[in-house]
Parts: sequence; structure tokens; C-alpha cells
Amino acid sequence: MTAQTTDINTAAGVLRAGGLVAVPTETVYGLGANVEDAAAVARVFQVKGRPPSHPLIVHIGGAEQLVDWAEDVSEAARLLAEHFWPGPLTLVLRRSRRVPLEVTGGLQTVAVRVPDHPIALALLAGFGGGIAAPSANRFGSVSPTTAHHVRTELGPGVDFVLDGGPCEVGVESTIVDATGEIPTILRPGGVTCEDLEAVLGRPLGVDSTSRVRVPGQHPSHYAPRARVILVEPENVIAEAELALERGHQTGVFLPPSLADVPVKAHAVVTVPSSMAAYARELYGFLRDLDQQGCDLIVASLPPEQGLGLAIANRLRRAAGPRPSH
Ligand code: AMP
Ligand code: MG
Repeated sequence: MTAQTTDINTAAGVLRAGGLVAVPTETVYGLGANVEDAAAVARVFQVKGRPPSHPLIVHIGGAEQLVDWAEDVSEAARLLAEHFWPGPLTLVLRRSRRVPLEVTGGLQTVAVRVPDHPIALALLAGFGGGIAAPSANRFGSVSPTTAHHVRTELGPGVDFVLDGGPCEVGVESTIVDATGEIPTILRPGGVTCEDLEAVLGRPLGVDSTSRVRVPGQHPSHYAPRARVILVEPENVIAEAELALERGHQTGVFLPPSLADVPVKAHAVVTVPSSMAAYARELYGFLRDLDQQGCDLIVASLPPEQGLGLAIANRLRRAAGPRPSH
């Protein structure tokens, strides 16, 4: 059941009262709080188990509200906002005084975006303020792309869940540092580099030219419970069968080029050849293989262009070294 007007009114009331609302966006579900309510923002960090130094994205209802939340907005930033909002693009800008430091992890910059989802936009309009929202999952784990994912992972930590059905894009927003001369990608996501460069009419900067701290420094992020190993596409089947022989409950991400090839494994997912479909399904696939009891997932990287860049980034993080407990 998707959310109705009454649910949106209820959710706006929950935000006003200092509560947390799970909000569907086109990328993933967010865990939203009133940006200007320090106690509510503190609860977001606590419910996620996220270190308070990891800043949150501020969601606003339209590009015209940018002046309330950011200062020194460059021409390039304005151009990107006009072109890609509402949409899966987050701009990092100098914060205005309206943005509390609790939201930015103490930084003088703020990450802002206008989500492209009717329910998120209706909530922002009804609430009137900004909504600070990270992905509605435990820190480090796979982002939720359905309301069911949010409920099973965060349970009573969320005061109200707006159900908007499955997310269209399925991976997080592209984060662009727009504080300097040359806009620079901090995290690949739902808007491709190619599209950003076409609108800017010039190449984007590379990470090392960015003046702001790169987000998500932790090598392991977006990770399922199962260990993920990445191999060349042509080696996926052999690696998976070896892991099975060694006694692993093995899950396989079968590349589209091997779609009809039989493979012995505990669970097999055939990767869609369309990158948009793959991005939409990626986190659901990882959750499914966890649910089926896999302890190891063998996968390969897609070509790193277009949305393939964001998918490869998430798979690398999923395969990153885990913190020892
Ligand atoms: P999440 O909400 O979990 O998808 O993560 C949001 C991302 O935005 C995190 O990786 C943050 O580190 C990043 N972010 C938020 N604010 C800033 C900022 N001011 N500068 C750089 N990155 C930011
Ligand atoms: Mg996240």
C-alpha cells in the first residue's frame, strides 16, 4: 500500500514533534528528521549506529529554497541544480547559519538535494522545512529500497514509515563538491558523470582536487552479511564452484554474458544487462542472498561507465575489508 495524503500529513506532524520518518525517494529510503531539531538529528545517528562525524544530506522541496541553506552558490552549482533537481544529485556547498553543525558533522559545508519522488516532495511541501535524511539502514549495511527493508532493519527506531513502493533508481545520489572552481565527484550515483559533464560543458574534477573531506572513508560500506568477492566475469562460475566445494553457502551474481550457463551454487542471481535495471535491483539482490543464508557472494564488476560506475563503486565497498569485532 503506498502512502496517501493523510499519511503525509501524519508524517509531517511526526517531524514537527521531533520524530523520525522513513521517506521513499527515487534513490533509496531515507531516515528523515527536522534539520533544525538537534535532538531529532541526534536520534538519527543513534538509530543508524552512525558516527556523528558522518554528515547527513539536507533534503529540500525545490531549487529556489537553496538560498536558505547554502551560501556562495557558484554559477556551476546553480546550473547543476537547475538541470538535475529534482533528481539524484547532491551538491556540497558552504552551509548557511540555518544548518546546524550537528547535521554537517562539524563541517562548514552542507550536502543538499531535491529528491525526485512525489511522496518525498509532498512531505517536504507539507512540512515546510528541510529534512536531514541518511539512508534508512544500520551504518555500513545495504541501503533499503523498499518500506519492508526499512521496517525489518530499523523496527521501532522509526516513528512512521511512508511506503512509496520500490525505489526507481536504487542506488544513492551522486555527490558533487561544488564549493571550488571545478565541481568534483565525491561519490558516483544516480546521475552519471557523462550527464554532469555534458551540462557543465567541461570535465569534472577528480577527487584529489576536492577541498572537502571525502565521504564514507570506511572501506566496508553498503555491505551484506555475506562476504563479497570480486573476480573477472569469465571466472565467476569457476570461483563460485570452488567456494561451494570448500563448504561455503555460495551466492553468485552471474554476469549477463553467462546468463544461460548452468552453475552449481546455493543461490544464483542473473545480473540484468541494463545498468538502470541492475542499479534498481542491486541492494535487493544482496539482501536476498543474505536471506537465503549465503555466507559468500561471488560477483564481478560491470563496465565502469554511466550508471555502471555507481554500481561498481557499491560492489567494491561491499567487498571491502570488514572492521574486526
Ligand atoms: P547516506 O545518507 O548514508 O547515503 O550518506 C550521505 C553521504 O553524504 C555521506 O557519505 C556523507 O558523508 C555525505 N555528505 C554529507 N554532507 C557532506 C559534506 N558536507 N561534505 C561531504 N560529504 C557529505
Ligand atoms: Mg547510507
